[in-house]
Amino acid sequence: MAVATEYKTNLKPVWCPGCGDFGVLAAFTQAFSALGLRKENIVIVTGIGCSSRIAGYLNVYGFNSIHGRTLPIATGVKIANPHLTVIAAGGDGDAYSIGIGHIPHAARRNIDITYLVMDNEIYGLTKGQQSPTSPLGIYSSSTPLGTYERPLNTLEMLLSFNATFVAQAFSGDTKHLVELIIKAIKHKGFSFINCISPCPTYRGGMQIFKDIRAKLRYLDEEERDVSEKELAYRIARTKDYIPIGVIYQEEVDEYERVLEALREKSGAKKEIGLEEVLSTFIA
Ligand code: SF4
Repeated sequence: MAVATEYKTNLKPVWCPGCGDFGVLAAFTQAFSALGLRKENIVIVTGIGCSSRIAGYLNVYGFNSIHGRTLPIATGVKIANPHLTVIAAGGDGDAYSIGIGHIPHAARRNIDITYLVMDNEIYGLTKGQQSPTSPLGIYSSSTPLGTYERPLNTLEMLLSFNATFVAQAFSGDTKHLVELIIKAIKHKGFSFINCISPCPTYRGGMQIFKDIRAKLRYLDEEERDVSEKELAYRIARTKDYIPIGVIYQEEVDEYERVLEALREKSGAKKEIGLEEVLSTFIA
């Protein structure tokens, strides 16, 4: 079994000192190690943004793709080789703005991908414009008078898309994030983690970590039925605290199993060799 550091490349992250994304990088390596995953069996697909650079820092197969198209590419990878552990990752701009149209479809298909969004509530790479999750009233480089568009409630959104695993994490608590990533990867089907991953450069310096930590409430999955949807909605909608942990989970056949059943029903062959494919074109 590889130790956590073996899942890191030699590239030095170009993130700002104190960026929350360092915690996510550390958590991924620890989770992969704890699960005993072979590096060559993991693929991480990312979009564009500060957080999407993570594909270059993990010593697994990586695809730093185009803006907002993380999920379609990850879906293609998983369908082509269902034996791989496929991770999709990116930031709140990549996921919830340009890429938002892909989320409901990945969720309703229940494809076995883990999607971790590093949500810093700002566009960091392009120097601090408001994002779809920026809280009302904050000053950003695009909102000098304060933001005036209401932020998305992404947890509620994913619940409404019938995602079968919905969780929230905080990159300032790596140990807890490791546990959540392990649960998400083990989940059969689409697993979503909104990871609050602060941007100290454009969101108030290191104080932002303290402010978030003061509002966290850890959810105890043993104390409640995580498949209770109404309760999950209430947790997702709360303004009293920031919920951390698994908010909702249910067991539904994953997409790959559905496709396999369809294949069997159709009588199609399971695997077709290249020569056989070519022979259909050559008389
Ligand atoms: Fe991290 Fe913000 Fe710096 Fe980007 S701009 S690397 S999100 S701290």
